[in-house]
Amino acid sequence: MQRITILGATGSIGVSTLDVLARHPERYSVFALSAHSKVEALAAQCERFRPARAVVGSAAAAAQLTALLRAKGLRTEVDYGEAALCAIAADAQVDAVMAAIVGAAGLAPTLAAARAGKKVLLANKEALVMSGQLFIDAAQASGAVLLPIDSEHNAIFQCLPRGYGRAPADAGVAKIVLTASGGPFLTRAVDSLDAVTPEQACKHPNWVMGRKISVDSATMMNKGLEVIEAHWLFGTPAAQIEVLIHPQSVIHSMVSYVDGSVLAQLGNPDMRTPIAHALAYPERIDSGVAQLDLAQIATLQFERADFARFPCLALAFDALRAGGTAPALLNAANEVAVQAFLDLRIGFRQIDRVVRHVIETVAGGAASSIEAVMAQDGLARAAAERYIAGGPAR
Ligand code: NDP
Ligand code: MG
Repeated sequence: MQRITILGATGSIGVSTLDVLARHPERYSVFALSAHSKVEALAAQCERFRPARAVVGSAAAAAQLTALLRAKGLRTEVDYGEAALCAIAADAQVDAVMAAIVGAAGLAPTLAAARAGKKVLLANKEALVMSGQLFIDAAQASGAVLLPIDSEHNAIFQCLPRGYGRAPADAGVAKIVLTASGGPFLTRAVDSLDAVTPEQACKHPNWVMGRKISVDSATMMNKGLEVIEAHWLFGTPAAQIEVLIHPQSVIHSMVSYVDGSVLAQLGNPDMRTPIAHALAYPERIDSGVAQLDLAQIATLQFERADFARFPCLALAFDALRAGGTAPALLNAANEVAVQAFLDLRIGFRQIDRVVRHVIETVAGGAASSIEAVMAQDGLARAAAERYIAGGPAR
C-alpha cells in the first residue's frame, strides 16, 4: 500500500489523480490533500478519501474546513500555509507526492518532497523551470525519483530507454520532439488576437485544464516552459529540443535516435494516462482512459511551430539559452501577465510584451540558491506589475 500526498487536490490534475487512485484502493491510500481556497470541494474529497491531513491557504479557510469536517464526524487534521504544505510533502509516512499546485506557489512544497527523497510526480512545471539545477541536485542528493506528469515529458520518459530518465548522452538520442496542439488560436488571424477574451483563450481544443495553463497553451508559453522542463528532466540541450505542432494531441511527444528511429507515445488526450503511468511505474495500471482508436481518428497532422505567431515560445528558448535566473524571470513575468489577462487588465497580445519587458529590464544572475531565485522572482513580479500599471498603449 502506497501513501500519497496530493498538493493541489482540487485542481484539474488533482481531481484526475483522485479518479485514478479510486480505481485502485488496494494499492493506494491518501495521506494528505491540499487546496488553496476551494474549501467545500476539499471537504468533499476528505469525506471520500479520508486523508490523515488536509492543508489550505489561510487561517479562515482552515477554520471553515475544520467545521465542515467535524460536522461530518471526520477527524482529519487541518492546517494552512506554506510550512504545512512542506510538512505534508515531506512526512515520513508518505511514499509519493503529486505536485499539482499551479505556479511558483508550488515550488517550496515540491522541493520539500524532493529533498525528503519521495517519489515526486511532477505536474507543477513552474517549480522546475524556476529552480532548474537546484531542484535536480536536491532530488539526486536525497535519492528522490522524479516522474513527469506533463503529458509530453511523460511520453518522452516512456520513449527513452529504461534507466535513462536523466542523462541520455550515451543513449543515442539525436533530439527530443515536443508536440504541441497549438491551442485555440493556431489558425486565427494574429491581428484579431487583441480582442480575444479569457473564456476564448481557456477553451482548449483537446484538453480540459486549469485556467493558467490554458492561457499558457493559447500563447504557447506552456510549450516554452515545457522546453525548459525537458532540458532539466532529461539533461537535453536547447539545440536538441524541437517543438512540432500536432493539432490532434494524439502523439504526446517523441524521441529521435541517431540511427533514424523515432519512438513516440500515443494516447487519447486525458491526463489520467500519464498520472496512472507515474503512479504505478514501472508497472502498469488501468487509468479509466478509453483505448485509442486510430482508425476513427484517421488523420494525424503536423506542422512547424511559427515563432512569429507565438513570441512566447521564442522568449522561452532565449531564457533557456541565457541560463541562470532567466527562466525564473520569464516564469514570474508570465504568471503576473496571465493573471492580469484573466482579470481583464491587459489584452492577450500584451502577455508576451510584459514578459519581454521584464526579461530585458531586470538583470538576471546566477541561480545559486533558492533564496536567490525567489529574490529574482520577486523583482520580476514587481517589474511586470509596474509595466502593466503603465497602461495598455505599449
Ligand atoms: P488548477 O488551477 O486546476 O489547480 C491548481 C491547484 O493548486 C488547486 O488545487 C488550487 O487550489 C491550488 N492552488 C492554487 N493557487 C495556490 C496557492 N497560491 N497556494 C497553494 N495552492 C494553490 O491547475 P491544473 O491542475 O490545471 O495545473 C496544476 C499544475 O499542473 C500546473 O503547474 C500545470 O502547469 C500542471 N499541468 C497541468 C495539466 C492539466 O492538464 N491540467 C497538464 C500538465 C501540467 P484551489 O482549487 O483551492 O484554488
Ligand atoms: Mg504538457
